[in-house]
Amino acid sequence: MNCLICNNSEKVNFLDELKLEVKEDSSFFKDAEIFQCTDCDFSFVNPMPKIDDINFFYENVYRKKNRPPYWITDNDSDRIKNYLEDKNLSYLLYITTLVDITKIKNFYDFGCGDGDIGFALKKKFSNLELFCSESDSQCQKILSNRNYKNFKDISKIDKKFDFISTTHSLEHLTDTKMFSIFKNMLNPEGFLFFEVPNCTSEYFKGRPYDSPHLLFYTKKSLEKIALMNNFKIVNISTSAYSFDNDHRYQRESQALYEEWISSKFSKPNIKNVIKKFLPLTLLNIRKNYLKIKKNEESAKLDWFTNNVGNNCYIRGIFKKN
Ligand SMILES: [Zn+2]
Repeated sequence: MNCLICNNSEKVNFLDELKLEVKEDSSFFKDAEIFQCTDCDFSFVNPMPKIDDINFFYENVYRKKNRPPYWITDNDSDRIKNYLEDKNLSYLLYITTLVDITKIKNFYDFGCGDGDIGFALKKKFSNLELFCSESDSQCQKILSNRNYKNFKDISKIDKKFDFISTTHSLEHLTDTKMFSIFKNMLNPEGFLFFEVPNCTSEYFKGRPYDSPHLLFYTKKSLEKIALMNNFKIVNISTSAYSFDNDHRYQRESQALYEEWISSKFSKPNIKNVIKKFLPLTLLNIRKNYLKIKKNEESAKLDWFTNNVGNNCYIRGIFKKN
């Protein structure tokens, strides 16, 4: 099997099984295993899920109400308010430190979710025009209220952009061709900002699950991709909390979900009825999850901590030559 970056097969080895967060998702990720190219320090799933299955998954399942990682509820006011949460503040600080946004006329976000980053940037840089590609049906209302023009089909995009942003999307794709597509979508001297999980050996050692990720990037693999696509690397930084904390948050999120599923589907015997009326409502589950991520005193600065050696995410800014 060939590496999805260097296209060689000699250094590609089996690494591990793909671990699912939500067990019921196995219908989308049949028989998937993880392979690694030691030359590129890059890992990927094989066999890749079918494109139709993946499209269906992201349009209808991924952000479905009451499931991780988003725990979306009927009430979207929380989501609207959260555009200045710590994670987004960290992105804004990074982007505006390295790029002069006064020179950026249009902003495109691939897989933008609710479009927080562009929306926040536009609060200060009001001339920015916002574009995106987001297929998720849960996000459409907020995106349209935020004046995003959404190209659900990326092949229909007839514009060039000064700035492309994509956070926590590239690892969900089935190949790395998106980098060359982005390059074609950029104006000369345009910028590409991205963040993905940092998938070093520490990631693989402790992670409770991978899904629905299919590609596993590291600094070396991103440098190689920049070189192959003739991007200038403005910066690559590791960021956010430690692998240990990330793995713990993942375990806690998974346990909450499993607890909720079992309370929802278990048979109505006395024990379960009592369990049902314990304050384990969905709202509480979501609150608990957010608490895990936010209120830990020692972790408050983690979103703003870069390059300390064990950060669980990796981000960068590439410039089109
Ligand atoms: Zn390779």
